[in-house]
Amino acid sequence: MKGRIIEIFSSVQGEGLWLGIEQIFVRFHGCKLKCSYCDTPLTHHAITKSRVEVFPYTQEFENHALEYGVEELNATLSSFKLQSIAITGGEPLEQVEFLEAWLPTLKTQYQILLETSGIEVEAFKLIKQYVDMASMDIKLPSSSGEKPYWKEHDLFLEQTLPHKVYAKIVFNEKMTPEEEGHLETLFNKYPELPVVFQPVSPLRSINLQEALLKARRFSQKFGPRIRVIPQVHKYLAVM
Ligand code: SF4
Repeated sequence: MKGRIIEIFSSVQGEGLWLGIEQIFVRFHGCKLKCSYCDTPLTHHAITKSRVEVFPYTQEFENHALEYGVEELNATLSSFKLQSIAITGGEPLEQVEFLEAWLPTLKTQYQILLETSGIEVEAFKLIKQYVDMASMDIKLPSSSGEKPYWKEHDLFLEQTLPHKVYAKIVFNEKMTPEEEGHLETLFNKYPELPVVFQPVSPLRSINLQEALLKARRFSQKFGPRIRVIPQVHKYLAVM
């Protein structure tokens, strides 16, 4: 069993509730969605190589084959000497068979953050016991350009709450009243769900003031479980 992995590198987590934690990022290949703001275009291409960071923050990489076995991957991870891993993509849950083989080998050594589009519900059920926190996207068509996935997001949250998940919503000033209504329904249904509104990057590409006013409506209604956090790693000019 092998996993297709585009990149392995270390950085400061720049999004969500684990903001600021130094992590090893394991970026999986492949995603059936095509969000307009996706910053990992390679995930959609047929590639044969991956790259592994040589030294933190240098952006110097060594090439590696795209596919990794479990032992090989763990040996690569151990060289980073960090205790937290961000499993990201692409959509890692599209390779759930590899995750089922790999994650049980990690549990005692690392804290695991899974970054997911929040639509692969059945796959998530298979591996959720190994995940310390899931960062689950809520895809808004007004920012992603994708179709809505309200039903899938709802089912995904049913699998995770009351623990181990926060919702990340990439948004701009174009969020529609219909989307706002769906979000309110979810926030009411899951009162313990922490929510991170993440303005689309780069911030100059959107009307930030109008976008923040949209998020403010939710802060007024749902209180401090609503956060607004931009992609902080971009300010540090790191990956
Ligand atoms: S779900 Fe994530 S990886 Fe997939 S297209 Fe959207 S932003 Fe890119």
